[in-house]
Amino acid sequence: MSDIIRLLPDSIANQIAAGEVIQRPASAVKELMENSIDAEATKIQLIVKDAGRSLLQVVDNGKGMTETDARMCFERHATSKLRDASDLFNIRTKGFRGEALASIASIAHVELRTKVQEAEIGTFIFIEGNIVQKQEPCQCNTGTAILVRNLFYNVPARRNFLKSDLVEFRHILEEYHRVAIAHPEIGFTLHHNGHEVSRLDAGSLRLRIISIFGQGHNERLVPVEEDTSIVKVTGFIGKPEYSKKTRGEQYFFINKRFIRSPYLHHALQAAFEDLITRDHFVSYFIFLEVDPAKIDVNIHPTKTEVKFEDEHHIYSIIRSAVKRSLGKFNVSPTLDFEQENSIKIDPYPQDRPVVPPVIKVNPDFNPFSTKVTGQQLAGKKEIETWFDKEVLTGIEKSQTVALPAEKEVPAYECIQIHGSFILSAAPSGLLLIHMKRAHERILYERILYERILKEMGMERARSQQLLFPQHLELSPEDHVSVKELLPSLRKSGFDLDEFGKNTFIIQGTPPGLSDGEAILALQSIIDTYKFTGTGSATGINENIAVSLASNMAIKEGKLLQQPEMQQLMRDLFLCEYPALSPTGKPTLVTMSVEELLKRFGS
Ligand code: ADP
Ligand code: MG
Repeated sequence: MSDIIRLLPDSIANQIAAGEVIQRPASAVKELMENSIDAEATKIQLIVKDAGRSLLQVVDNGKGMTETDARMCFERHATSKLRDASDLFNIRTKGFRGEALASIASIAHVELRTKVQEAEIGTFIFIEGNIVQKQEPCQCNTGTAILVRNLFYNVPARRNFLKSDLVEFRHILEEYHRVAIAHPEIGFTLHHNGHEVSRLDAGSLRLRIISIFGQGHNERLVPVEEDTSIVKVTGFIGKPEYSKKTRGEQYFFINKRFIRSPYLHHALQAAFEDLITRDHFVSYFIFLEVDPAKIDVNIHPTKTEVKFEDEHHIYSIIRSAVKRSLGKFNVSPTLDFEQENSIKIDPYPQDRPVVPPVIKVNPDFNPFSTKVTGQQLAGKKEIETWFDKEVLTGIEKSQTVALPAEKEVPAYECIQIHGSFILSAAPSGLLLIHMKRAHERILYERILYERILKEMGMERARSQQLLFPQHLELSPEDHVSVKELLPSLRKSGFDLDEFGKNTFIIQGTPPGLSDGEAILALQSIIDTYKFTGTGSATGINENIAVSLASNMAIKEGKLLQQPEMQQLMRDLFLCEYPALSPTGKPTLVTMSVEELLKRFGS
């Protein structure tokens, strides 16, 4: 057999590398901006068209490149940032792999204009699919301008995989902000489709955060500072009372490089453990400085994951630094978490019309990936057979004669337990209902059902007007998410409009949602949307229904009257899937007379 192994041509090797480094326009933005920072620029402009599909341009006033370097920079493994192997353990620059420009040039049309301070004249290079098409002297300022057109023009799979412009632009904004937060000493601007989207003047970190996330952040930020022999920690945390049910703003930087680290995130959450409830997230902008020899940023092509020695120590240092700041700035004692539970909500509606007919929803739909276990499903079966016997007969009867359910369904005496459960007796045993989850199930099916009516044109989206319109101030990323969700939100009864920079004004909410809950509900909708991916229209509607139901449902601790509890039970058993909450958790527990007898040893 003849020899078959061959070396890959550079252009193919580069395309393969590009597959790892450049996943979407935002990855190119990150690489180009990082190059500008490594070149010591003090001003960086990012210009984008069609979310980077047709044009991405980064212009900096950094040190620029000589003619030879300009040609070299597109070669694979061409870097000015490493000289020998030992440099690998002392990386202070963002880049060092010498891959980004070679990768980008292999999958796009790239123009480079660059000039070093000492030179009179700069260099222009046009490169396409790794082949230099043109190189000539040009007039330009000191610094570098790189223009990337038609990204993925020769990688249709990648191009087709891109999401909507809004989604891709949101990713670009995310990268832009990460770089901008890490470098408040640098001025940045961002233009999209001819509009200035962001202008960030050089200044302090506090100023940078406020310019990005809004003036409202000023009073929320608590400084963190700790200097140890292992790590220096600086930055800000958000005050606990501003923690959100949504992830919010969470930024870790190691040596000014944005990283994701669930482990360190945990350290932060742990520092807040007694101050916020479990389902809340704190905001933070934390900078760690460590000896570059002690970290390895080379474990992931996009360098957002970092391995470091002393991980455990760093964990405890962060935790105690944050705790100390919370104490020092007197943040802890003023908290009153009871407040949240005592928000007044409307009583469970008594005057509602005839029970809605049973609708089809997907029982396996599960936005929070809490697996529905076999046991719960078995529970559901059991429930169905039980209520076939006990209650459903009554309900069906009431529906066929079109009378309000309460007239016909046998009503069992209910007892509220611990403000959270409803205990009821039935001829075959006893039944324990999880009040809030049950209500969520009812609302969820009702919301989806009403939505179907609207979609069939049988009903218009109803919205209750707020007495005092509320402002929803969002991070730029969330602002983009809300824009994507706007048609679905409006159909669900939210009456909201853009109102200045990154702000929406809420004029009306879906009926049943109290004023105080509007913003919470919107935030959890945005969050679910962000963390479960874009998904189909149905997915979005279901997510909205889940969030709305959870925000509208009776709060734990709410005392219910006898007729309210009975109504809740009836409504629950009219649901298509009464035994599961919209997120797949059990809504009820039963115990048959046989089981009871067994328990008593008879
Ligand atoms: P790396 O950043 O890993 O070195 P890149 O492919 O991103 O690899 O860049 C290759 C080289 O091109 C860099 O090492 C640097 O010398 C040069 N370069 C890239 N962008 C710029 C820029 N904006 N200003 C000056 N030099 C640059
Ligand atoms: Mg680079």
